[in-house]
Amino acid sequence: MKKTKKENLKKLKPFERAQMNEYLRRHFAHADDPDRLDVPSGTRPLLYHRIPINTKTADEASKSTLRRRAKLGEMIRNISQSKLSHELSRLPDDKKAAECKEAGVCAPHFTPMEDLAMRSYAGLTLVQYDKVKRFEATKGIKCTSLHTQRALKKSVVGDFLETRPCQFTFKDDESPYSINGYVTKALPVCIVKDLTKFTLQRIDKKAKFGSLTWHGGIPEDEIWVKITGDKGGGSTKLGIQLVNVEKPNAPTNTKIFCQFEASDSHRNLKSALSDTAPQIDELKSTKWHGKTMIVFGGGDYDFTAKMNRIAGASGTHPCYLCLITNSQMQLPPGSRIQAVFTERTLKHLQEEYFKFMKSGGKSSQQSKYYNVIYSAIFQIEPNMWVIPILHITLGSIKKIHVLLIVVAHGLGIDIANDLAKLAWPVGSTQYDTYISQKSELLNAEERSLEMFDEMSELQEQNENEDTPCRRYKKMNHVLPKLYRLRKSFEKKSLN
Ligand SMILES: [Zn+2]
Repeated sequence: MKKTKKENLKKLKPFERAQMNEYLRRHFAHADDPDRLDVPSGTRPLLYHRIPINTKTADEASKSTLRRRAKLGEMIRNISQSKLSHELSRLPDDKKAAECKEAGVCAPHFTPMEDLAMRSYAGLTLVQYDKVKRFEATKGIKCTSLHTQRALKKSVVGDFLETRPCQFTFKDDESPYSINGYVTKALPVCIVKDLTKFTLQRIDKKAKFGSLTWHGGIPEDEIWVKITGDKGGGSTKLGIQLVNVEKPNAPTNTKIFCQFEASDSHRNLKSALSDTAPQIDELKSTKWHGKTMIVFGGGDYDFTAKMNRIAGASGTHPCYLCLITNSQMQLPPGSRIQAVFTERTLKHLQEEYFKFMKSGGKSSQQSKYYNVIYSAIFQIEPNMWVIPILHITLGSIKKIHVLLIVVAHGLGIDIANDLAKLAWPVGSTQYDTYISQKSELLNAEERSLEMFDEMSELQEQNENEDTPCRRYKKMNHVLPKLYRLRKSFEKKSLN
């Protein structure tokens, strides 16, 4: 029986082992290369190498220790003429990936979804994508096969999307083809073919993941959806949002069903949505698991006004919900001639539009027809259009902000003027007194203006009555005093 090397080693006597240890220790302590000892042994030389036994595991060791250990491993690989790639290939797949990830090495490849996103972003056809794929392969980058791409695209888009040419109008005064400053061009519109099927599929998907909710008082037997639209980044997009989810206005919940690269003018919207309009009626009459579909509209005021067929926010009747005039809108609700104004309805809009067109469709006459100047796009009742609260609030706050800036600027100039004459340093006692007097003066001014208003009102009332009003008399007495007070303040503040 052939004896193994281990058995031979076992055969070493204790004193022999002790001697060998001593020889090696001496060698490693004093040799030129303190880590290795080459020993001739028959055909193949033997090599002794010093490898310290580490007590700390790889997770516990410091970075510098790990670097030293890696250097040792690399050297052993060089001595044994082995390859790192072979070592890696011996690892199980999950460990291989984990090791590569830890080393910051990623296999150059795109996931099928990344490939699809790249293709759609660059607008590549399958043939063009094939060329890119071949080029990437020469650089060692792995791409998804065309077959996988096709299957993936189908799973994402379904057979919903369609692109067809459509006539759009653009403002262009200089073109020789321009008519009244506008030119017409045929451009593609990308649109969902079956909006009802598309919507139902979205609801099914949300229901599958348990994301449907009936928050904010949505009746249990209803499903709410909202059609919105906006122009941005050179294109007009229309989307549908499912309201029965936690965040209905989130961008991820807005699914675009129509997009075209033109302005969102009424004419362009009408042209692009000619096939979608009848589908809105279909959507309204659709049921999902016995629940009624309720369709709302939404968007900024400009879009909402267009979809509700009125001229816009600057018309005589700017409200898309009722027939209030803009002059009445300026008054507080209590002072308006009417408490409630007639609501706009689809029927009323159609009647007024008919009258407007019959009269010749002149824009200058639009206020006679409650500013109804556009034909219908979607049959959604005006009261089903969500009021664009955010846009309105932002508009109001901006107005107040501008007013505040104008007043503050005027006041600043006033103070600076006075200070230039008086040369009081900011923060001095005189300066503080001056500011408090200035503030009193402003209050007095404001009060006197209010009193003037009240007086003129009372004067009007007085003219119609026989006995003079007591309050009028009293105010007549007070006002000159207030005027004198104001004058004295002005004098004091400037002395
Ligand atoms: Zn209104």
